[in-house]
Amino acid sequence: MFESINPATGEKGQPIAEMDDDAIETALRRARSAYCDWRVSSLDRRTELLSAIADQFEGNKQRLAETATREMGKTLKSSIAEVEKCATAFRYYAEHGPSFLEGEDVAVAKGRARARWLPTGPVLAVMPWNFPYWQVVRFLAPAIMAGNVGLLKHASITQGVAALIEEMVAEAGAPQGLFQNLAIRSDKVARVIDDERVVAVTLTGSEGAGAKVAEQAGKALKKVVLELGGSDPFIVMPSADLDEAAETAAKARIQNAGQSCICAKRMIVHEHVFDQFAEKFADAMKAVKVGDPMDDDNDMGPLSSFEQRDTVLDQVERAQKAGAELLFGGEKLDRAGAYMSPGILTGIPRDSDIAREEVFGPVAMLFKVRGVDEAIGVANDIPYGLGSSVWTHDKAEQERFERDIEAGMTAVNQMLASTPEAPFGGVKKSGHGRELGPWGMHEFMNLKSVMLP
Ligand code: NDP
Repeated sequence: MFESINPATGEKGQPIAEMDDDAIETALRRARSAYCDWRVSSLDRRTELLSAIADQFEGNKQRLAETATREMGKTLKSSIAEVEKCATAFRYYAEHGPSFLEGEDVAVAKGRARARWLPTGPVLAVMPWNFPYWQVVRFLAPAIMAGNVGLLKHASITQGVAALIEEMVAEAGAPQGLFQNLAIRSDKVARVIDDERVVAVTLTGSEGAGAKVAEQAGKALKKVVLELGGSDPFIVMPSADLDEAAETAAKARIQNAGQSCICAKRMIVHEHVFDQFAEKFADAMKAVKVGDPMDDDNDMGPLSSFEQRDTVLDQVERAQKAGAELLFGGEKLDRAGAYMSPGILTGIPRDSDIAREEVFGPVAMLFKVRGVDEAIGVANDIPYGLGSSVWTHDKAEQERFERDIEAGMTAVNQMLASTPEAPFGGVKKSGHGRELGPWGMHEFMNLKSVMLP
């Protein structure tokens, strides 16, 4: 049984049964059989289904959002926004997907040739709890449009959400087997990857889980897309609007209680504006309202679990032992639930372990730099390369950041956020492959060369 614990209260939710081996076998058989039909389904059928799933998400958003909040503690208002964003993604692929599937004529020396996009089969998605709907939909909406079918292994703590996604897809009229939730633990994942009916795997989560799944996919010679962690830089230069930058930095750090792969985690600030920015940023972080995630007045609820909070508290302690100064916060709150306060660490030795780790909670690291070269140096001096946000009105600096920051995404004078139209993913240990847009859809497709007389 999967037992969920509400991190806001410590109360246990309804247990959910784990699938046994027979049930996994049935699901794999159904996936393969669904693929045989879905791969040749009409584009109209696919777009109709995507629109119907969007309607289901919208029509059930309160129930969906409450389940996510109960299972992993994010504020209800952010859960609702997440469900709405999922509906937008289904509609985006319904509208634009057909054009992403159009083939292309290729100029060849002799005869004619065409490049055609074709589906490949059932894809396994191993997904995390932090955006429990959105992470799944990022994979599922393009998979349906592509003519593939989906299997989900969701995080153990968000099994209620996983069951609801399956329900929404079924209620929208999807054929049996098109999308199935495998209520399994991670020790069953290797077996599913190895199964010949599964053609590829996509994982969002930690570096450790990514390495394990990539190893299993490598052994089975299957394609893998990995979206792993990050420790995104948020760079502030003298020409930035400091009020806006500081407000946004706080929002970007504490969103989802600091548990987003693209949260701004390291604030890298030019020495000329360091003190001013630090003061404004501290004010904004101190103003964050922490409390019951069901209450719309609060900006932040608890962390997703007691273990996750303990991990972050331990990182704060290790940072201090390494010589960093905790300006304020970063502490357990004296109330029931996995709550902690937002905080700021500064003076972090650049060669310490903590300077290179992902802090998956509401504690920012603040660095002072002397110029653009040093800012880029600090930004790149980590194993990760997912997102980044840069604040400057100097065109030459903007160009340097766009070109030289080792990251899959750079946002200029704004908070980084994913959007269905733009490619999403990282470099270095943040993973490989891209999600969203046409790129995400093509990751799991067969680009066939057709040579014609
Ligand atoms: P994990 O990476 O462990 O979990 C993500 C998914 O992978 C879950 O479905 C999990 O299942 C599964 N999984 C874990 N280990 C394996 C394995 N060996 N084989 C197959 N599947 C596996 O995240 P955690 O919840 O443990 O969080 C730990 C850290 O990961 C966080 O502190 C954060 O740094 C990072 N993280 C990053 C995310 C991102 O968006 N990039 C999202 C979530 C976490 P199960 O839940 O059953 O273990």
